[in-house]
Amino acid sequence: MAEPVQKLAGDRPRVLIVEDNPADAELAVLYLAPKYAVFVADHIHAAVAMLRKMVFEAVLTDLTLPDAIELEAVIKLQAAAPEAALIVVTGLADEVIGHRAVQLGAQDYLVKGHFEGDVLDRAMRYAIERKRVEKRLAQLAHYDQLTGLANRATFRDRLQMVLERARRKNGRFTVMYVDLNDFKATNDCFGHDIGDAVLREVADRLRHAIRSYDTAARLGGDEFALLLDHQGDEITPRQLIERVLAAFATPIELGGEPLNVTASIGVATFPEAGNNEAELLKAADTAMFWAKDRPGTSCVVYDQAHAEEALPRRRSEVLLRQAFAAGEFVLQFQPVVSLRNQRVTAVEALLRWSQRDGTLVGPSSFIPNLEATGLIVDVGAWVIREACRNAAQWRRDGHDLRVAVNISARQFESEGLMDTVEAALREHGVPPGSLEVEITESLLMRDTAQTKRALRGLKELGVRISIDDFGTGYSSLAYLHRFSVDALKIDRSFVSRLEENEGAVLTSAIIRLGHNLGLEVVAEGVETSAQLQKLCNDGCDFGQGYFLGRPAFDWARSAELAAEGG
Ligand code: C2E
Ligand code: MG
Ligand code: MG
Repeated sequence: MAEPVQKLAGDRPRVLIVEDNPADAELAVLYLAPKYAVFVADHIHAAVAMLRKMVFEAVLTDLTLPDAIELEAVIKLQAAAPEAALIVVTGLADEVIGHRAVQLGAQDYLVKGHFEGDVLDRAMRYAIERKRVEKRLAQLAHYDQLTGLANRATFRDRLQMVLERARRKNGRFTVMYVDLNDFKATNDCFGHDIGDAVLREVADRLRHAIRSYDTAARLGGDEFALLLDHQGDEITPRQLIERVLAAFATPIELGGEPLNVTASIGVATFPEAGNNEAELLKAADTAMFWAKDRPGTSCVVYDQAHAEEALPRRRSEVLLRQAFAAGEFVLQFQPVVSLRNQRVTAVEALLRWSQRDGTLVGPSSFIPNLEATGLIVDVGAWVIREACRNAAQWRRDGHDLRVAVNISARQFESEGLMDTVEAALREHGVPPGSLEVEITESLLMRDTAQTKRALRGLKELGVRISIDDFGTGYSSLAYLHRFSVDALKIDRSFVSRLEENEGAVLTSAIIRLGHNLGLEVVAEGVETSAQLQKLCNDGCDFGQGYFLGRPAFDWARSAELAAEGG
């Protein structure tokens, strides 16, 4: 982050008060004037005009205005000043509306007549800080930090959008996968700095090859993707391909020797190569592999005739089903340690596939398939039961440990989740407070009737809810609070960057804001004592990571090993 988050109080940030009742407006001015440069507008129209002219740090708005009712005000103000923190003031009877405003992106709400100067001041300070962190997190969540291109998630979103429009309008578009050849060798030979510079240069060239309404993304490593829309096109797909190929025609100059960078490009067009997102991506990927067989920069357009291997998905489903039936899924447990007293307070259950030949396969490689095939619902139910069974055993052994299970979206939205949880707790005599459910931010933000019901149900049961991989998803901090989440787990990508300035600033901001919302904060992926020290200094509540204990079949052994420095 360019500016430190703490800096705001000193600069007299600008605040706009939107309020048509002069007495209320005057009171708010009185409260805020000592610390902020305060402006007042008495209707939305005037407010929007001011927001267009000047940069405001925050907007405090009433929700009953002459020219905007209720949430209309929120929508209009956000459109006019997407960068400003927004606090709404509701009547006593409409807290629900305040809640809705937060769902729409407001940072907080206050109830009219129920706050004084200090409360308003505090709400204002935290709303501004929250907004800053949310903006930075959104940037991190949507863009690739190295190249500034869209990241994988954003690419998928845009693809979805373009696909829907093309379906409605019988349109056409092209997906391209661009994979650099021998990039690993470049990295090994010239070092990571040169490697990064090459990736940035390639990103620039791709950006220039496409048009403003197309999307270029970095999917990870040396893999790029392009999304080219053909609505009312003046150039043909062939010409677009030529332009992308041209991006690799000249060597990259980085001061020293010119580097010849070549790429393998796979092209899939809608609707020929596939009818949905998965088919198109797979087609582009397959074509890219075909291109790999050719020397230099080459490009292959996917065609059906070329593709005889349609089996993999179906095959993997059969394999997973068999593995589950044969009892090959097992759980490992990783300790979560209190940073106050170093004690293990919880363990997280992590799924593994113990294959017949003895290899232990991690979940990232098969969970997506479990999800895609719906098998996750049954396997996930087993995980919950197995976790409870273990928790009961630990309690009998005299350890008062909570057990955390990961719940994926499809499972969370499945009908039987509540029954499964209740039955598992009852069967093993585990108190609900000893079970914790980890869900992702994006699931929370989906905000469907199903997720709400499940959240409410779990909460009523007394099960704890935590947000996993926090910071990598949608990220609305205020939202967490309104949904009575108990804890957030800072994604390990932040923890691993604790030694860099931005990583440190963001992590401590998340911890502070989490606390401010009454949440416990867990840091994931703690790998070094330096990271642990920083987290302790920042007041983080819990830590989890290899430094504190690796996932193991026997959690106690794992924690001991880490304590011995193993
Ligand atoms: P997660 O919930 O964020 O779990 C933490 C992951 O980080 C685990 O990976 C763990 O082994 C790894 N980890 C822990 N400490 C460190 C560290 O210090 N450094 C590094 N580099 N990694 C560390 P794992 O076991 O491969 O699990 C990956 C993900 O798979 C989990 O991420 C979770 O989202 C998902 N998952 C695991 N078990 C289940 C399950 O039963 N059901 C569902 N739906 N998802 C699961
Ligand atoms: Mg987890
Ligand atoms: Mg995580």
